[in-house]
Amino acid sequence: MPSLSPAFPSRLPNVGTTVFTVMSALAAQHKAINLGQGFPDFACDPHLIAYVNKAMLDSHNQYPPMVGIPQLRHGIRDKIKNLYGHEYDADAEITVTAGGTQGILTAILCCVSPGDEVVIIEPAYDSYRPSIELAGGKVIAVSLTTIRDAQGQVSSYEIPWDQLAKVVNPKTRLIMINSPHNPTGMVWQKSDVDQLANLVRNTNALIVSDEVYEHMVYDGAQHESIARYPELVNRSFLISSFGKTYHVTGWKVGYVAAPAELMKEFRKVHQFNVFTVNTPMQYGLAQYLSESEHYLNLPQFYQAKRDFFKAGLEKTGFKLLPTPGTYFQCVDYSNIQSPQSKLNEGDFCSWLSTEIGVAAIPVSAFYENPVESGVVRFCFAKKEQTLTDALQRLERI
Ligand code: GLN
Repeated sequence: MPSLSPAFPSRLPNVGTTVFTVMSALAAQHKAINLGQGFPDFACDPHLIAYVNKAMLDSHNQYPPMVGIPQLRHGIRDKIKNLYGHEYDADAEITVTAGGTQGILTAILCCVSPGDEVVIIEPAYDSYRPSIELAGGKVIAVSLTTIRDAQGQVSSYEIPWDQLAKVVNPKTRLIMINSPHNPTGMVWQKSDVDQLANLVRNTNALIVSDEVYEHMVYDGAQHESIARYPELVNRSFLISSFGKTYHVTGWKVGYVAAPAELMKEFRKVHQFNVFTVNTPMQYGLAQYLSESEHYLNLPQFYQAKRDFFKAGLEKTGFKLLPTPGTYFQCVDYSNIQSPQSKLNEGDFCSWLSTEIGVAAIPVSAFYENPVESGVVRFCFAKKEQTLTDALQRLERI
């Protein structure tokens, strides 16, 4: 039999199907409650749907401007200015994207040339590395410092500033940062951003700041957006996502803000990458964004879910890691019953899905060379009933 198509070398030989898809499929197969892949299982606000519906009925169904409709870009500008202080030029410095992930890929493609070094901090969101590799960049990974308590269980994480100082050099094109952090829920402090400013001050390194969980920072803390720091804004792509903020991950709409020189290059790639992002969603989101209470109330909304889920998990054998941000709760399972406590994180998640009936994500999947810490991630962006049902199953642990 002749082969159907000519063979060619893979551009991404080490990439398989993402862990989120794999774990969601496993959850569906075993009818497990899916606390793995990060997405809400509750409806978005019907007003938002009504706004999009109206836009469709009003004939906003053809191509929008390549960079996004002005109303939405103006709304994004105002939100960033009000929350973080920096005023981007809505015409030259903000582009609406098909979700945060496209914004990240496009930012990387527009500035990373073959051989350039790009620094990531692992565990890192799984799209970063392949995006850098597609651009021909060289991934330089450092690991978050894992802090353990007296019993040897993971208690928190810190940015490895010593390591970063060692790897940043004149070949460093880009540093990828992410706060609030997926998967650990860690949130950067002002001191972290100050350290970053010191690190890059005399370099040519640009920054991609993945802030898609910006409205999920809890306990009264503030989100340390890159847009609070004028010195860093000038070298940064700020990435955010309406899917996360408005419970519509399937709509795939986000945005990127960056100084004009960077945005000019970003748009060169964007226009041939997606060209435009769907029109009625943009109109609907523009109107909804003008009602600031929706994003201002989000920390309170998710903090209540976090606290509810945490209170239930306290009755299990898991050790809970702090969750200052995101809609993810990480747990250390190294003290639960044997032999499950000895499983690697991937196998533990398979066991959890098939035997307990709850899906989770192994934190090791966020590393190129899996680091096994005995920690898995649950998503608590779920209805109270879903969390209650999952907790009932997890009580067996
Ligand atoms: N960002 C989401 C998560 O971390 C899922 C994204 C995806 O499925 N690719 O779970």
